[in-house]
Amino acid sequence: MALVEIENVSKFYQTGEVQVKALSDVNLSIDEASFVSFVGPSGSGKTTILNLIGCLDKPTKGKIFVDGDEVNAFDRRQRAKFRGTTLGFIFQAFNLFPVLTTFENVEYPLVMIKNESSSKRREMVLKMLESVGMLDQKDKFPDQISGGQKQRVAVARALVTSPKLVLADEPTANLDKKAALNVIHLMRHMRDEFKTTFIFSTHDPGVMEEAEILYTLEDGRLIDRKINQGARDDSNL
Ligand code: ADP
Ligand code: MG
Repeated sequence: MALVEIENVSKFYQTGEVQVKALSDVNLSIDEASFVSFVGPSGSGKTTILNLIGCLDKPTKGKIFVDGDEVNAFDRRQRAKFRGTTLGFIFQAFNLFPVLTTFENVEYPLVMIKNESSSKRREMVLKMLESVGMLDQKDKFPDQISGGQKQRVAVARALVTSPKLVLADEPTANLDKKAALNVIHLMRHMRDEFKTTFIFSTHDPGVMEEAEILYTLEDGRLIDRKINQGARDDSNL
């Protein structure tokens, strides 16, 4: 069974008299351990579809299944629980807590969601920081590390709860070209290591080449699905 199934999904926004069709009748399915990107120009519906898969919003029409659950039928509480247990998020603007260290930022979801003991937490955080190559920066604060390093911390934070699926809306948009590719390679490496599915969005041609499956959106319609055979060739970090 696919990890994500989207069936006849539409999302309309009503702003005054005008109805915006952010997504129109989208159908797709994404397998476990995939490395997938949504691409398309600004306003094509990338954020909308990621927010729907991420249980941050509900479709106007259609059904969305994630890990076998029909998430569009969830109430607020169920959505929040599902986000905490099954999903991880990486943001364009990193969204680290400025007053917490690298270590504490990665530890945070374990305190809030998993309620692990402090010794177990420490073990999990250190292991994850090692995986993303940030162990030596564990006591630094976000303003003491680069943008690329911040996003590495954010990748560790997203994965420390062992989610099935990580969603990342334009995760490289605030990074220079080299740091952007490094972060995407790290994400793909983490998919290899943990078998976590990654779904991200981008409008950067260099970054989209790194996805294994590319879904193209245009005016809310899914107009293309492309398998990118070359994406795996240079997955060195
Ligand atoms: P992208 O992420 O590809 O730039 P979005 O998913 O953010 O696109 O937006 C798709 C369309 O939906 C755009 O026309 C946008 O203006 C519209 N839209 C998105 N969110 C809202 C909202 N909360 N209210 C009204 N219109 C919205
Ligand atoms: Mg967007």
